[in-house]
Amino acid sequence: MGKARHERDSLIIGRFQPFHKGHMEVIREISKDSDTLTIGIGSAQYSHTVNNPFTAGERYRMISNTLKDEGITNAYIVPIEDLNRYSVWVSHVVSMSPPFSVVYSNNSLTRRLFIEAGYKIKDSPLYNRPEYSGTEVRRRMLCDGDWRALVPKAVADVIDDIDGIGRIKGLNDDI
Ligand code: ATP
Ligand code: MG
Repeated sequence: MGKARHERDSLIIGRFQPFHKGHMEVIREISKDSDTLTIGIGSAQYSHTVNNPFTAGERYRMISNTLKDEGITNAYIVPIEDLNRYSVWVSHVVSMSPPFSVVYSNNSLTRRLFIEAGYKIKDSPLYNRPEYSGTEVRRRMLCDGDWRALVPKAVADVIDDIDGIGRIKGLNDDI
Protein backbone atom coordinates (compact mmCIF):
# COMPACT_ATOMS: atom_id res chain seq x y z
CA MET A 1 0.00 0.00 0.00
CA GLY A 2 0.91 3.66 -0.15
CA LYS A 3 2.97 3.85 3.02
CA ALA A 4 5.85 1.72 1.68
CA ARG A 5 6.29 4.14 -1.18
CA HIS A 6 6.74 6.96 1.29
CA GLU A 7 9.31 5.54 3.66
CA ARG A 8 11.38 8.74 3.53
CA ASP A 9 8.42 11.06 3.95
CA SER A 10 8.04 12.31 7.51
CA LEU A 11 5.63 14.12 9.80
CA ILE A 12 6.20 16.26 12.89
CA ILE A 13 3.36 17.88 14.83
CA GLY A 14 3.51 20.69 17.37
CA ARG A 15 1.39 23.64 18.43
CA PHE A 16 4.24 26.04 17.68
CA GLN A 17 3.00 28.71 20.10
CA PRO A 18 5.34 30.14 18.97
CA PHE A 19 7.80 28.36 16.65
CA HIS A 20 11.16 28.43 18.50
CA LYS A 21 14.81 27.48 17.96
CA GLY A 22 14.28 23.97 19.39
CA HIS A 23 11.66 23.30 16.71
CA MET A 24 14.03 24.69 14.09
CA GLU A 25 16.94 22.49 15.22
CA VAL A 26 14.90 19.32 15.04
CA ILE A 27 13.33 20.23 11.70
CA ARG A 28 16.76 20.96 10.23
CA GLU A 29 17.87 17.45 11.21
CA ILE A 30 14.69 15.67 10.08
CA SER A 31 14.56 17.48 6.76
CA LYS A 32 18.04 16.14 5.94
CA ASP A 33 16.86 12.57 6.55
CA SER A 34 13.60 12.95 4.64
CA ASP A 35 12.47 13.33 1.05
CA THR A 36 9.57 15.44 2.31
CA LEU A 37 8.71 16.68 5.78
CA THR A 38 5.17 17.63 6.72
CA ILE A 39 4.96 20.07 9.63
CA GLY A 40 1.52 19.82 11.22
CA ILE A 41 0.34 22.89 13.12
CA GLY A 42 -1.70 21.28 15.89
CA SER A 43 -4.61 22.83 17.79
CA ALA A 44 -4.97 25.01 14.71
CA GLN A 45 -8.34 26.42 15.70
CA TYR A 46 -7.06 28.08 18.87
CA SER A 47 -5.69 31.61 19.18
CA HIS A 48 -5.95 34.65 21.41
CA THR A 49 -5.36 32.86 24.71
CA VAL A 50 -2.23 33.12 26.87
CA ASN A 51 -1.31 29.48 26.15
CA ASN A 52 -2.33 29.60 22.47
CA PRO A 53 -1.76 33.22 21.50
CA PHE A 54 -1.24 32.91 17.74
CA THR A 55 -3.60 31.91 14.93
CA ALA A 56 -2.83 29.05 12.57
CA GLY A 57 -2.13 31.62 9.84
CA GLU A 58 0.31 33.54 12.02
CA ARG A 59 2.09 30.30 12.99
CA TYR A 60 2.14 29.28 9.33
CA ARG A 61 3.88 32.55 8.47
CA MET A 62 6.43 32.14 11.29
CA ILE A 63 7.36 28.65 10.07
CA SER A 64 7.27 29.43 6.35
CA ASN A 65 9.46 32.55 6.67
CA THR A 66 11.96 30.71 8.89
CA LEU A 67 12.22 27.77 6.47
CA LYS A 68 12.85 30.22 3.65
CA ASP A 69 15.71 31.83 5.62
CA GLU A 70 17.13 28.36 6.35
CA GLY A 71 16.93 27.28 2.71
CA ILE A 72 14.70 24.30 3.52
CA THR A 73 12.58 23.51 0.49
CA ASN A 74 11.23 20.00 1.14
CA ALA A 75 8.70 20.89 3.87
CA TYR A 76 4.92 21.17 3.69
CA ILE A 77 3.03 23.09 6.39
CA VAL A 78 -0.46 21.83 7.27
CA PRO A 79 -2.75 23.33 9.92
CA ILE A 80 -4.60 20.59 11.82
CA GLU A 81 -7.54 21.31 14.10
CA ASP A 82 -8.16 19.23 17.23
CA LEU A 83 -10.93 16.64 16.93
CA ASN A 84 -11.16 15.71 20.64
CA ARG A 85 -11.77 12.14 19.54
CA TYR A 86 -8.46 10.32 19.69
CA SER A 87 -9.63 7.06 18.07
CA VAL A 88 -9.97 8.81 14.71
CA TRP A 89 -7.27 11.45 15.10
CA VAL A 90 -4.64 9.68 12.97
CA SER A 91 -7.11 9.38 10.07
CA HIS A 92 -7.85 13.07 10.47
CA VAL A 93 -4.14 13.97 10.29
CA VAL A 94 -3.65 11.68 7.27
CA SER A 95 -6.60 13.27 5.50
CA MET A 96 -5.06 16.73 5.89
CA SER A 97 -1.45 15.85 4.99
CA PRO A 98 0.69 14.85 2.02
CA PRO A 99 1.71 11.16 2.24
CA PHE A 100 4.13 10.16 5.03
CA SER A 101 5.16 6.97 6.82
CA VAL A 102 7.56 8.16 9.53
CA VAL A 103 6.38 10.20 12.53
CA TYR A 104 8.79 12.13 14.74
CA SER A 105 7.35 12.75 18.19
CA ASN A 106 8.21 12.68 21.87
CA ASN A 107 4.57 12.99 22.90
CA SER A 108 3.34 9.70 24.37
CA LEU A 109 -0.24 10.02 23.13
CA THR A 110 0.84 10.97 19.60
CA ARG A 111 3.30 8.06 19.56
CA ARG A 112 0.70 5.57 20.81
CA LEU A 113 -1.93 6.61 18.28
CA PHE A 114 0.45 6.41 15.31
CA ILE A 115 1.97 3.10 16.48
CA GLU A 116 -1.51 1.58 16.68
CA ALA A 117 -2.17 2.80 13.14
CA GLY A 118 1.02 1.07 11.88
CA TYR A 119 3.34 4.03 11.43
CA LYS A 120 7.04 4.10 12.16
CA ILE A 121 7.85 6.37 15.11
CA LYS A 122 11.22 8.00 15.57
CA ASP A 123 12.48 9.90 18.61
CA SER A 124 13.44 13.46 17.98
CA PRO A 125 16.25 14.78 20.19
CA LEU A 126 15.42 17.70 22.49
CA TYR A 127 17.71 20.71 22.14
CA ASN A 128 18.33 23.00 25.13
CA ARG A 129 14.90 22.12 26.49
CA PRO A 130 15.03 24.40 29.58
CA GLU A 131 15.08 27.42 27.27
CA TYR A 132 13.80 26.16 23.93
CA SER A 133 10.20 25.55 24.94
CA GLY A 134 7.00 27.32 23.97
CA THR A 135 6.07 27.70 27.64
CA GLU A 136 9.37 29.48 28.40
CA VAL A 137 9.02 31.79 25.35
CA ARG A 138 5.50 32.82 26.44
CA ARG A 139 6.66 33.30 30.03
CA ARG A 140 9.38 35.68 28.87
CA MET A 141 6.92 37.54 26.62
CA LEU A 142 4.73 38.26 29.64
CA CYS A 143 7.56 39.47 31.92
CA ASP A 144 9.63 41.46 29.41
CA GLY A 145 12.31 38.76 29.37
CA ASP A 146 14.57 38.02 26.43
CA TRP A 147 12.15 35.91 24.35
CA ARG A 148 13.85 37.03 21.13
CA ALA A 149 16.93 34.94 21.95
CA LEU A 150 14.77 31.80 21.85
CA VAL A 151 13.11 32.22 18.43
CA PRO A 152 14.42 32.53 14.86
CA LYS A 153 14.67 36.12 13.58
CA ALA A 154 11.79 35.58 11.13
CA VAL A 155 9.52 34.56 14.03
CA ALA A 156 10.38 37.70 16.01
CA ASP A 157 9.59 39.76 12.89
CA VAL A 158 6.11 38.21 12.56
CA ILE A 159 5.44 38.71 16.29
CA ASP A 160 6.47 42.36 16.02
CA ASP A 161 4.36 42.81 12.89
CA ILE A 162 1.17 41.60 14.62
CA ASP A 163 1.97 43.22 18.00
CA GLY A 164 2.09 39.76 19.52
CA ILE A 165 3.52 41.06 22.80
CA GLY A 166 0.66 43.55 23.16
CA ARG A 167 -1.76 40.72 22.49
CA ILE A 168 -0.38 38.23 25.02
CA LYS A 169 -0.01 40.88 27.73
CA GLY A 170 -3.52 42.16 27.09
CA LEU A 171 -4.93 38.65 27.37
CA ASN A 172 -3.05 38.07 30.64
CA ASP A 173 -4.74 41.13 32.21
CA ASP A 174 -8.10 39.34 32.20
CA ILE A 175 -6.94 36.54 34.46
P1 ATP B 1 4.73 24.17 24.82
O1 ATP B 1 5.63 24.47 25.99
O2 ATP B 1 3.81 25.28 24.47
O3 ATP B 1 4.05 22.83 24.93
P2 ATP B 1 6.79 23.04 23.13
O4 ATP B 1 8.11 23.72 23.17
O5 ATP B 1 6.62 21.76 23.93
O6 ATP B 1 5.68 24.11 23.53
P3 ATP B 1 5.11 22.17 21.00
O7 ATP B 1 4.48 23.24 20.20
O8 ATP B 1 4.30 21.50 22.08
O9 ATP B 1 6.46 22.75 21.63
O10 ATP B 1 5.67 21.12 19.95
C1 ATP B 1 6.02 19.88 20.37
C2 ATP B 1 6.94 19.26 19.34
O11 ATP B 1 8.14 20.03 19.21
C3 ATP B 1 7.35 17.90 19.83
O12 ATP B 1 7.51 17.04 18.73
C4 ATP B 1 8.68 18.17 20.50
O13 ATP B 1 9.48 17.02 20.52
C5 ATP B 1 9.27 19.29 19.63
N1 ATP B 1 10.12 20.17 20.43
C6 ATP B 1 9.74 21.08 21.32
N2 ATP B 1 10.79 21.68 21.91
C7 ATP B 1 11.89 21.12 21.36
C8 ATP B 1 13.30 21.28 21.55
N3 ATP B 1 13.81 22.14 22.44
N4 ATP B 1 14.12 20.51 20.81
C9 ATP B 1 13.64 19.62 19.92
N5 ATP B 1 12.32 19.41 19.69
C10 ATP B 1 11.45 20.15 20.40
MG1 MG C 1 4.67 20.85 24.22
